[in-house]
Amino acid sequence: MYVLRGGRVADAAGTREADVAVAHGEIVAVGEPEAVDEALAARDGKPAEVDVGGQVVAPGLIDAHVHVMMDGRPDVSTAVSESDYAASYRAASNLEAAVSAGVTTVRDLGSRGTLALDAGEAVASGEIDGPRVLACGRNVIMTGGHGNWFGREADSPAEVRKAAREQLKAGADVLKCMATGGVLTEGAVTGAPELTPEELAAFTDAAAPTDTPTAAHAHGEEGIKNAVEAGISSVEHGTFMDREAAEMMAERGTYWVPTASALRGIVDNGVEAGIPEDAVAKAEDAADRFDDAWDHALEAGVSIAMGTDAGTPFNFFEEIPQEMAHMVDYGLSPERALEAATVNAADLLGLDDVGRVEEGYRADLVVLDADPNEDVAAWQNPEAVFARGERVE
Ligand SMILES: [Zn+2]
Repeated sequence: MYVLRGGRVADAAGTREADVAVAHGEIVAVGEPEAVDEALAARDGKPAEVDVGGQVVAPGLIDAHVHVMMDGRPDVSTAVSESDYAASYRAASNLEAAVSAGVTTVRDLGSRGTLALDAGEAVASGEIDGPRVLACGRNVIMTGGHGNWFGREADSPAEVRKAAREQLKAGADVLKCMATGGVLTEGAVTGAPELTPEELAAFTDAAAPTDTPTAAHAHGEEGIKNAVEAGISSVEHGTFMDREAAEMMAERGTYWVPTASALRGIVDNGVEAGIPEDAVAKAEDAADRFDDAWDHALEAGVSIAMGTDAGTPFNFFEEIPQEMAHMVDYGLSPERALEAATVNAADLLGLDDVGRVEEGYRADLVVLDADPNEDVAAWQNPEAVFARGERVE
């Protein structure tokens, strides 16, 4: 039990002066010192005092799109031949890096086998330090499609339904499919549709009975629209989103997870850094269209959730907070970037007790030097990080 004393609190409700009391991993009081003391007096034991004078307590970040099996190496295909054991150690190291950077929840959208699902259990049981991990298990993809070296290939609505149900059986918190080609699979055409509208409908239908969120990797506008029409919860990347797709998403409440860090990681480093030529060419082509996608999304009022695609080339887990600055570069205010990485991402993931500094919420907190509602750079290098109440940094 402890009190973060003398600072300000910043979340989607704004920035205000308040103390924050934590007990058993939960926020138990937020407000004036007297009110917080009163709430604590009813409990046994004397709380420790943590001085956060001049600092700001904010919710830990939620990254709605990572790959714990990948480590930002230039050529992801070199990870194919690695053992499952090697992948496990890498996942542990990635998760530790993420939580140290102030990221207290991640959603893994595709790793081999049950790697990410198991990582989530290892964090929950205290075996490794890391953010809470929600995971999709394996990606559901067409035969030979994007990410086929680790995805679950399925063709026809019946096979897609079975593939989706296999992930649910394995404990998936979210289902992920590939609605179009991608940048990092050689030969795949970035924007071309992959799963058909009928297959996508079977995919979302498989998730419906348990109300499990669904995510579609989609770059091209046709694939985006197919996914939105199938009732997908989030469009991942959405690089070639046009006005019509943006309006459809806004109308249906489909989230956009832009993953700007993924594109930047490839374009800013290039072939010289060892990224395959094919991937660099596709990413450079995508970068211009991505600017337009932001214009359409902001104009239409599409809901945005923060995600990085961490693990892809030069897109490191310890640098996840940079996505906040990228989103501001593309036109979000610091307040809206905060919303994207807290309340919006929590809503997308189906979590109702993370993303705010409020009584009854999990104590996933970062202590920052400046107000993130005013200055997006505040997210870089947190002074302290608490995950589920435990100080990890
Ligand atoms: Zn991804």
